[in-house]
Amino acid sequence: KQRDPHQPEFHQAVEEVLRSLWPFLEANPKYLRDGILERMVEPERVITFRVPWVDDQGQVRVNRGFRVQMSSAIGPYKGGLRFHPSVNLGVLKFLAFEQVFKNSLTSLPMGGGKGGSDFDPKGKSDNEVMRFCQSFMTELYRHVGADVDVPAGDIGVGGREIGYLFGQYKRLSNQFTSVLTGKGSSYGGSLIRPEATGYGCVYFAEEMLKSTLSGFDGRRVAISGSGNVAQYAAQKVIELGGKVISLSDSAGTLHIPQGLSEEQWEYLMELKNVRRGRLQEMAGHFDLPFLAEQRPWSLPCAIALPCATQNELDGEDARTLLKNGCVCVAEGANMPSTLEAVDLFIEAGILYAPGKASNAGGVAVSGLEMSQNAMRLHWSAGEVDTRLHNIMQSIHHACETHGKRNGKVNYVDGANIAGFVKVADAMLAQGVV
Ligand code: NDP
Repeated sequence: KQRDPHQPEFHQAVEEVLRSLWPFLEANPKYLRDGILERMVEPERVITFRVPWVDDQGQVRVNRGFRVQMSSAIGPYKGGLRFHPSVNLGVLKFLAFEQVFKNSLTSLPMGGGKGGSDFDPKGKSDNEVMRFCQSFMTELYRHVGADVDVPAGDIGVGGREIGYLFGQYKRLSNQFTSVLTGKGSSYGGSLIRPEATGYGCVYFAEEMLKSTLSGFDGRRVAISGSGNVAQYAAQKVIELGGKVISLSDSAGTLHIPQGLSEEQWEYLMELKNVRRGRLQEMAGHFDLPFLAEQRPWSLPCAIALPCATQNELDGEDARTLLKNGCVCVAEGANMPSTLEAVDLFIEAGILYAPGKASNAGGVAVSGLEMSQNAMRLHWSAGEVDTRLHNIMQSIHHACETHGKRNGKVNYVDGANIAGFVKVADAMLAQGVV
């Protein structure tokens, strides 16, 4: 904390991992040598750069760009780009640190990284977003590459932004390579990549629920967020017979007492991805309650899927969820639950999955996109979905193997230990580098 002051999210992510790893490390002291832990918390490389661009009024604007290349122990750096005003070095270091474990869990050969900018795409025209992305890539292109570092999307970076970033990379490098994932399917993108994180989260929750001999059918499911992850988590829940009773954005929560219908889901997709509108408009259109400035966690539900952002579910929210009978929390977002909330879930003995396990489906399909690009092949949606499903089941199995205590699975311990071992073994084999 003294070395990296003002990075609370990074400290929180490291603390969560070290707390759960510690008993394992004491039992396996080979991992306490060669500075493994000290090296894991220090990024291999951090790049920050100026991103100047011109807005529609002809004014010059300046944002800050970042790429945190955390670990290349098991493969090229891999992790998303986030465009949001809250982006700073500490947030990106937490995300890059988590990414290392998550990518290891997928069993695909990917190291960990994360990047982005404090640029806010909200309210910007397509042309402004394009000029920003071109300027961002004009600096980033020299640090990335298909075998070096392969960024993808995250908050504020979806298909539109990936397209502009890819176009600029191609122009600067004169190479059509797999330098970004989440590309459109007409130019090398994998089918099911847009769906992957949300679907994967629900597949993971389904595996967890098997221990209670039940699934989503007929159950009330509270979802936060209304972006990429939330949209496809909602679609999969509906498909499995669950009732999606909420969605949210930074202005508040949309309450859907009867459960989101397919028609309402189609409206949401058009609203958020084509018109780039707000949830409040959806509330007006369908005459649904909008709980301004509130999160969804006060709504009684059996299953909670936090799919918006970090620290969006605190101790108070956790108590309310437990009181209302919530039995399963699977994180679609990265670190949405505070440490206090996590402790409460584990103490109560409910099914709780940390994002690095339950939201790994997105990066897993990104890994499959890299494989398809390398082979110059394009798999069918069914084939990619089957592979995604298998990967989520195998991550669940890895969590069980490493996290089972007295007949119960501690998914935090399971995910951290399983993710750690592979990276640490590779580091030990490669010497002090
Ligand atoms: P999007 O930009 O598509 O959507 C983000 C959603 O979260 C929006 O509804 C947004 O509301 C809301 N949100 C963002 N910041 C805040 C905030 N500070 N307070 C309240 N609401 C907020 O992003 P994604 O769906 O891609 O990402 C969501 C989460 O999932 C993130 O934690 C991301 O790191 C994680 N994730 C994403 C993956 C992916 O494949 N996309 C893969 C793995 C994890 P508003 O529009 O009002 O800002």
